[in-house]
Amino acid sequence: MNREYLKDKKRVVVKIGSSSITHPKTGKPALARIEKLVRILTDLENTGKEVILVSSGAIAVGRNLIGLTGKPSTKELKQACAAVGQASLMTIYQRLFAEYGIKVAQVLMTKNTMIVDKSRHNARNTFSELLKLHVIPVVNENDTVSTDEIEFGDNDTLSAIVAALVGADLLILLSDIDGLYTDDPRKNPDARFIDTVEYIDDGIIAMGKGVGTDVGSGGMFTKISAARIANDSGADMVIASSENLEVIYDIVEGRNIGTLFLAHKNENFHLIDYLSGGCSD
Ligand code: GLU
Repeated sequence: MNREYLKDKKRVVVKIGSSSITHPKTGKPALARIEKLVRILTDLENTGKEVILVSSGAIAVGRNLIGLTGKPSTKELKQACAAVGQASLMTIYQRLFAEYGIKVAQVLMTKNTMIVDKSRHNARNTFSELLKLHVIPVVNENDTVSTDEIEFGDNDTLSAIVAALVGADLLILLSDIDGLYTDDPRKNPDARFIDTVEYIDDGIIAMGKGVGTDVGSGGMFTKISAARIANDSGADMVIASSENLEVIYDIVEGRNIGTLFLAHKNENFHLIDYLSGGCSD
C-alpha cells in the first residue's frame, strides 16, 4: 500500500521499550541509542510535528542503579526500583534533549488517571498545553504507585491510550520484532510478513496470539490490542523494529517499513470503553 500520506501526520506518539534503551548484558542505559532517539525526535519536532515519547525503562534502570542482579522479587522492590530509575531516566532525557534546545516534561499515569473523569480531563489539558509550548512530553506508567488493579501493565497499551487521549494521528511502536507475521517467524519458516492491516478481525487477533516478544511486558497480542485503541480513536499505528532507530524517519516519510494498522475513526469512540477495572475516587 502507498504510504505517502503518512508524511502529513502532525501529532506523533513514539513508544520505545526498556530493551531498546538499555544494554542487554549490564542493564545500564544505552546512551548512544538514547542520544540517537533524542536527535531523531528533535528533528521531527523541527519539521513542525508535535512529538510525544512513551518510554519504558524505569524499572530496568532503577534495578541496575540499586545493584539488583535479577528482576525485583516483590511489588515494593519493583516500585522502589521504578522510583529510582524514572528519575535517572528523566535526567538522561532532559540532558540530551537540552543539547538541542528542547524542553521535556515528565508525565506519569496509572489506569486510574484515565478512568477518573477529572484526572483524564486534567491529563488531556496538560498534554495540550505542553504541546502548545513545544515541550516534548515523556510518558511512563507511574510504576511507583501502580499495582495490579490500577496498572495498564504494559507501555504498548499506555502509548495507544495516550495517542487516543491527545488525538494523535500516528502511533509508532518500536519493538524487538519488525512487524506482524502470520505465525511466529522464529518457529515457522513459512510465516509471512503482513505489510498492512486494514481491519483487526479474528484472523489478525489469532496471528498475534502465538507471537511473544522476548523482553518487556508486551507481546504481539498487546500490540494488536493497542492498535485497536489507536485505530478506533483515529490514529494509524506502525509496529517496527527498534534495532535501527532511523526507521522513525522511514515511517514518517511514508516508506514501507513495519506493519501499518489503518485508522478508521469510530465516531462513538470513548476512551473509557477501552479500559477495564480500576478504582474511582
Ligand atoms: N513502565 C515500565 C518501566 O518503565 C515498563 C513497562 C513496559 O515495558 O511495557 O519499567
